Amino acid sequence: MNDQLNNPEYEIPPEMQSQVTITTLDKIYNWGRKSSIWPMMFGLACCAIEMICTATSRFDFSRFGMEIMRPSPRQADLMIVAGTVTKKMIPQIVRLYNQMPEPKYVIAMGACASGGGPFKEGYNVVSGVDEYIPVDVYVPGCPPTPQALLNSFIVLQKKIEQQSIKHVRWYSKEPDQAIPIPILGPDIMDPRQYDEIKRYVQEKQEKVAAESLLPEA
Ligand code: SF4
Repeated sequence: MNDQLNNPEYEIPPEMQSQVTITTLDKIYNWGRKSSIWPMMFGLACCAIEMICTATSRFDFSRFGMEIMRPSPRQADLMIVAGTVTKKMIPQIVRLYNQMPEPKYVIAMGACASGGGPFKEGYNVVSGVDEYIPVDVYVPGCPPTPQALLNSFIVLQKKIEQQSIKHVRWYSKEPDQAIPIPILGPDIMDPRQYDEIKRYVQEKQEKVAAESLLPEA
């Protein structure tokens, strides 16, 4: 532990090295967070089977301090989106993401979660979960192996190490805005685009109305 935390700029006398560590607040804060990430327990499709394998003894992600997969978003700080993201499911995914407390992270596991995968452009599938929630790490593959998922944890830990308590969004003065829950209609809609869609529909309706008034040729 001392090796990970010690700040090399300060020399500690040899006789005190087993008792004293000089470090920065960022380093100890990030070390604590990166070593105790709790993932949320949910899976969407075949990729989830690989995620479950990653938790078993052969691979064992408790080596990363992820002892417990939490059944509640309120106790989790990592969402592993493991599987195909359908239009019917995305409102629930966004709602769960909003319910997770900061700091929170997202891993898009597999081709489906990253970009739609083999179902891209399908009538019922969204082309990547990152169209709705921010993704920190993408894992390629269909399905990715447990080793690939383990690697994504290491990448996420490196990302956490780079964060500074001075700049992280959850300590900023501005309150964090929840992401609007997408609305499932004939097609899925992001409420933030509501005005734009309304304007587009109005223009179309006016155009059709104007054309119907033209004298027939
Ligand atoms: S990426 Fe492949 S394995 Fe994963 S959910 Fe999609 S189809 Fe299934």
